[in-house]
Amino acid sequence: MRTRGRILIRGIVQGVGFRPFVYARATDLGIRGTVRNTGSQVEIDAWGDRFPAFLAAVSRGPPMARIDSVQVESLAGDPPPGFAILQSTEGALSGLIPPEIATCRDCTGDIFAPSGRYRGYWATSCVNCGPRYSIITGLPYDRERTSMAVFPMCPSCAAEYSDPSCRRHHAQTIACPDCGPQLSLLDARGTPIPSPDPISEAAQLLDDGRILAIRGIGGFHIACTGNSAGELKRRLGRTEQPFAVMVTPEHLERIACVSPEDREWLESPVRPILVLPKRDADSLTAVSNLHTIGCMLPYAPLHHLLFARLSHPLLIMTSANHPGYPMVTETDEAGEKLAGSVDFILTHNRRIVNRCDDSVIRDGFIIRLSRGIAPKRTRIDLGFPCILGVGPELNSNITVYAGGFAVTSPHIGHVRNPPTLTYLQETVERIGRFLGARYDVIAHDLHPQFLSTRYARELAAATGAALIPVQHHRAHVAAVTTHPCIGITIDGVGYGDDGHVWGGEIFSGQVPDLDRVAHLEEVPMPGGDLATRFPERMLYGILPGAETRSLLAGRGWDEIALGVLERQVDRSVHVAWTSSTGRVLDAVAAMLGTCRERTYDGEPAMRLESLAARGTARTWPLEYGTLDGCRTLSTRALCRVAFREYTRSAELALPERGKARADIAASFQYNLARGIATLAADAAREHGIPTVVLSGGVAYNRAIRETIRTGIADAGLTFLMNPEYPLGDGCISFGQCVWAGTMGR
Ligand SMILES: [Zn+2]
Ligand SMILES: [Zn+2]
Repeated sequence: MRTRGRILIRGIVQGVGFRPFVYARATDLGIRGTVRNTGSQVEIDAWGDRFPAFLAAVSRGPPMARIDSVQVESLAGDPPPGFAILQSTEGALSGLIPPEIATCRDCTGDIFAPSGRYRGYWATSCVNCGPRYSIITGLPYDRERTSMAVFPMCPSCAAEYSDPSCRRHHAQTIACPDCGPQLSLLDARGTPIPSPDPISEAAQLLDDGRILAIRGIGGFHIACTGNSAGELKRRLGRTEQPFAVMVTPEHLERIACVSPEDREWLESPVRPILVLPKRDADSLTAVSNLHTIGCMLPYAPLHHLLFARLSHPLLIMTSANHPGYPMVTETDEAGEKLAGSVDFILTHNRRIVNRCDDSVIRDGFIIRLSRGIAPKRTRIDLGFPCILGVGPELNSNITVYAGGFAVTSPHIGHVRNPPTLTYLQETVERIGRFLGARYDVIAHDLHPQFLSTRYARELAAATGAALIPVQHHRAHVAAVTTHPCIGITIDGVGYGDDGHVWGGEIFSGQVPDLDRVAHLEEVPMPGGDLATRFPERMLYGILPGAETRSLLAGRGWDEIALGVLERQVDRSVHVAWTSSTGRVLDAVAAMLGTCRERTYDGEPAMRLESLAARGTARTWPLEYGTLDGCRTLSTRALCRVAFREYTRSAELALPERGKARADIAASFQYNLARGIATLAADAAREHGIPTVVLSGGVAYNRAIRETIRTGIADAGLTFLMNPEYPLGDGCISFGQCVWAGTMGR
């Protein structure tokens, strides 16, 4: 039995309290030796009879560590008298950028302890929790390279920092009321309101129905109680958009159905927003008019303290930004940009270096990859080149690949306006600098006009990197697997090989050689992007003719507008052709009167899903065709059945009419998904490939995803998704890197 050895642990070992963790295990097991951080690994020299138990314990690591490998080497010499933590050596840039960690149980205990240095302190943290990426200006992660550098430690904090037996030993974010950052309350214009206890004051204001901007970990939230939801929507001009809420753990159970998997996420150190089914679909409609509601638990000391003083158990907490734009992070910016939306501002003086929205999860799938998860590091072998993936246009992020790891940034937004493009460029610059990246290859979307494409071209011209365009839906598949597969991508829109708008695609082959073998029928989008905003246009594009015309006329469309729409479709002018899954769902939402104007991303399809959740699906006949060698599923045929049923339902009285429409929504989703699964299973048989992968934003729709999963499994095939990355466009930058990396082989 081994009684000594040098243990080398590689992975995410910085900023996660690894050394104090090792120290504690060594003390428990009577191990003598040393531990130190060399940048990319932890190196432990250990002597003792209980070495095997010690090795097993340290191999698991502290909760936030991600261990890639553990290696044991022989060790000569005599042990030191006890166990010591040695100074870090600044190793080469290691690619270890720690993400934020929600307040741990111990720190929560400290905040609410009857006495102690941390009682009531809003920025309490330790080696196991606290801000990380949001405050980092450089690596390795040390206090002088964070925005905590301007807060010199008081003697008490310094003593804990250097005490190996303390939980705050080497905690870079250690701070207390005497030496750390402070809160202040401001009016809407940014003028300070003197207050001895800004948190209690803020809680009182919220309880009174006021709307506050609250500066948190990665940016500002706009917060208010449920009672002020209507007023908030009015001020933000977002009357339909569902808001996320922060709730106490006790109240959560009353408003939402929480599965054990959801609970695990909710209580994890990530503490993301979970999109959960409401307990009562008709409750909290002012907060969310869907059957779901986005919920998170308090994750920072500030939140815990706020909820302890509030009489309401629930706060709306929405990111302070226009949808698709970067979140507001600076206090003076909040005073300028949010003056019309909020009554007061609760802020602090710790600089947010790197913006980080809340992460969003649904059914275990990441919708928004951000706080607590990103920067996300994945071990993957793409060879030697250094690759940058700049992402698509909407819901973008970036990925940098270097030396066996892909690192994906937090959510950036819709790269279709100058502020978001600037944020994208800053993120590329910053993460590139952290990783010491020198790009050999820059991968971008195939769309020639995207701002991200133009930026990729400029950067390539400046650095001499090679450019690789990657078709949007193939990048989706590449984000799931590099093995031979049938790849299904169902989403809103992406630029296709033929310049058409793709979005219901089935590929066959192996990245980077994927043939388009099947897709949804191509239908016109009259007026191009206008058809996205007004889904009734899409409905007419799919089902042109007298019946749809009279439906629209009955809803207030005037003769002139209808005439224009009719001519556009008849003559195919101002029309884009699309195989998008999202647009077809939009059209049905419009048909059923569920959503006539899209006011936020994905609204029509999400409302259709909510309606469908109340309905029962029936099997409808499916029609297939062929176009340019690809098999197609006729969405027109499905829409015709839906329209017939809809017309029939108009004769029913309430509530039967409502039930009938819910059944149409459920049936449409079910049969569309069934058709897609059939196309994929047929392709798998034809090409002799037993694995089918699924990606794309429509796959967040539980009914559609599960119907496809079942269809594929029933065909005896292997079904694969990648829950490590978003199903939506947050996986594209990673997929672009994978695609470009495999091209180079
Ligand atoms: Zn802690
Ligand atoms: Zn202090």
